[in-house]
Amino acid sequence: MTLKTPEEYISDLRKMDINLWLFGEQVKDYADHPLIRPSINAVAMTYKLAEEPEYEDIMTATSNLTGNKVNRFTHLHQSADDLVKKVKMQRLLGQKTGCCFQRCVGMDAFNAVYSTTFELDAKHGTKYHERFTEYMKYVQDNDLTVDGCMTDARGDRSKAPGAQDDPDAYLHVVERRSNGIVVRGCKLHQTGMINSHEILVMPNNSLKESEKDWAVSFAIPVDTPGMIYIYGRQSCDTRKLEPTKVDVGNINFGGQEVMAIFNDVFVPLERIFMDGETDFTTMLVERFAGYHRQSYGGCKVGVGDTLIGAAQAIAEYNGASKASHIKDKIIEMCHLNETLYACGIACSSEGHKTAAGNYMIDLLLANICKQNVTRFPYEISRLVQDIAGGYMVTMPSDQDFTNPEIGSLVAKYSATRSDIPVEHRQRMLRYIENLTIGAGAVAYLTESMHGAGSPQAQRIMISRLVNFDHRKELAETLCGIRENCDLTW
Ligand code: SF4
Ligand code: FE
Repeated sequence: MTLKTPEEYISDLRKMDINLWLFGEQVKDYADHPLIRPSINAVAMTYKLAEEPEYEDIMTATSNLTGNKVNRFTHLHQSADDLVKKVKMQRLLGQKTGCCFQRCVGMDAFNAVYSTTFELDAKHGTKYHERFTEYMKYVQDNDLTVDGCMTDARGDRSKAPGAQDDPDAYLHVVERRSNGIVVRGCKLHQTGMINSHEILVMPNNSLKESEKDWAVSFAIPVDTPGMIYIYGRQSCDTRKLEPTKVDVGNINFGGQEVMAIFNDVFVPLERIFMDGETDFTTMLVERFAGYHRQSYGGCKVGVGDTLIGAAQAIAEYNGASKASHIKDKIIEMCHLNETLYACGIACSSEGHKTAAGNYMIDLLLANICKQNVTRFPYEISRLVQDIAGGYMVTMPSDQDFTNPEIGSLVAKYSATRSDIPVEHRQRMLRYIENLTIGAGAVAYLTESMHGAGSPQAQRIMISRLVNFDHRKELAETLCGIRENCDLTW
């Protein structure tokens, strides 16, 4: 069995015994918790769509390690076409869930760790790549969801990991034993972590030679002893606990972030993929971030598609869809959304083979992609809010709409076109609210800003990757400062 069903995936989560906290209390049976379940449903869609013949080409691939059919979320990209299909898969899932479906972080970490360990071994004579390849076979054969895990607590931003007052501000090795290591620290903003079977940890940033204890990469099961998880709050999250789903907006799906504390966690030798090789931390971080910056050219576009649909729908419900400025605003939304997609496809098509054999995106174009993602979803959100009108934030609750005493009056004065049920307007406004200022805005907006690195991180990469000398030479040649071309035709 290499493809799990959604039911099997959810049943795996039910068997996990994890130390999870939410609203100051420990949560057992988290797979059925109403506040958490929507995020599990989103990951479950990555299993469901892989079962459907219609999406087979996009959702599955042939493993280079085993020759078996695997879920693309566990695949090591074997061509530029694989990279393109990855982006298409993410757009599809964004369209089907309207949220962050969480499983990409692991896919991006697999591909970064796979190629980096190969080059690391070639220099240091270590055996990390072999170990990681065995690990990948286990992941693929069992169709696991793995959470790629990078961002540390980071303490005082002016100090390097090894110079912090509290050394735990960045996850590090606190003990080395003959059979493994013990690590301590905390990873923040961990998307989908408690919806995963496994965690794949990477260092947060470039490290100096003296910071060997922080240069560590490894994988452990989510329910490893010593792990403590604290569920992150989202705007309007407690609406998921209300008796009606209408006010949630996105009624079945949502994202998830947790604080993950590694409280002296033991990692066995065979699960360690980097330990002390500070000279390869930059490569690992840049590759992982590059893949995830590519990812946003798919997932955010899919979610953007649903917002464009919501803009069109609410304009029609309000009777405003024929106004030329409304049409123009929706066209602008499309222009912005497809520009993001174009960048996602471009950095994939320009991908190249790494020494390990898997494919890497074009780093410059992936950084341009993500830089646009830090801006365009905000503009798309502004436009859809403009089209939706103020009722999105002043509308009474669904419990007022269904109240026997006042419900009919609330509906009467919320009505627009007489052929449109008031509830349709209500639901659509709540969906737009969810994505632009509610729980869904975590993924559509703030994550677009900070996920896979904040805007400045991309600008630093752009400044490093653009060949300015070459461009200067072009200009100097054309204006005659340098020798011009031979025009003897
Ligand atoms: Fe995937 Fe997008 Fe969520 Fe990242 S933000 S895990 S790319 S859906
Ligand atoms: Fe993300």
